Amino acid sequence: MALVKIENLTYYYPGTEKPALDRINLSIPEGQFVLVIGGSGSGKSSLLRVIAGLIPGFYGGKYGGRVYLDGTELRELDKRSLVQKVGIVFQDPEAQMVMTGVEQEIAFGLENLGLPPKLMRRRVMEVTEALSLTGSLSRFIPELSGGEKQKVALASVLAMQPEVLLLDEPTSQLDPVAGEEILTMVRRLNEENDITVVLIEQRLERCFHLADRVLVMDE
Ligand code: ADP
Ligand code: MG
Repeated sequence: MALVKIENLTYYYPGTEKPALDRINLSIPEGQFVLVIGGSGSGKSSLLRVIAGLIPGFYGGKYGGRVYLDGTELRELDKRSLVQKVGIVFQDPEAQMVMTGVEQEIAFGLENLGLPPKLMRRRVMEVTEALSLTGSLSRFIPELSGGEKQKVALASVLAMQPEVLLLDEPTSQLDPVAGEEILTMVRRLNEENDITVVLIEQRLERCFHLADRVLVMDE
C-alpha cells in the first residue's frame, strides 16, 4: 500500500483564479526517495504543503480531491499524530524557527510531545552529531548563517523521527560540500530507517544520483 496517496487533487490559494495544483494523482510507496523538480511557481512547495497537512488547513483556499497518509485521510488525523509522522523543512528555515537558542529549537517539538527528558536529550545529541552541530548547541539562532539555520531546521525535524520527510530546497544556502553532505546523510536515513523522502532541489547535480524517482511539475 502507498504511504502517501494523492487522488485528483486541485487547489486554489485564497483569492486566486488559477489553481496552484491541478488534478494531481500521485502514489508514493514507503521508503521511496522522490525528487521533485520543475520551474518556479509550478507548485512544488504547494505539493509539499499538501502532504504536510498545511493545505488547506493553514493556508485556506479551495480544495478538491483526497490525500491519504498510510491509508487514513490527512484531514482526519489529529495534529499530534500528524507532526510525528510527517516532518517538513521549509524553503526559508527562519519561517519555522520558534526559539532563540539552537538546543531549545531542536528540542522544541520533542518537548511538545512530552518525551521524557533523558530520551529527549539522546535524540537531540544524535541529530546534532549527525549534522555536525554539536559545537553550536549553545549558540543564538539570529547569529547563525543561513546554512547553519538550514541545518538546525533539519535537525529539529529529524529529531522527531518522522516517517515522511519533506524537504523544500534544504541546501539552498549551503556551500556545495555541506549541501552534498546533508543530502547524502538524508539518503542514508532513507536506506537504513526506511524513511520516505520527498525532496525539492534546484541543483540536480547534488541529488539526481540519490533519488529513486523524479517528479516533474509543469506550470
Ligand atoms: P514552486 O515551489 O514550484 O516555485 P509554489 O508552490 O510556491 O511553486 O507556487 C505555485 C503557485 O501558487 C504559484 O502561482 C504561486 O504564485 C502561488 N502561491 C504560492 N504560495 C502562495 C500563497 N501563499 N498565496 C497565494 N498564492 C501562492
Ligand atoms: Mg518553492
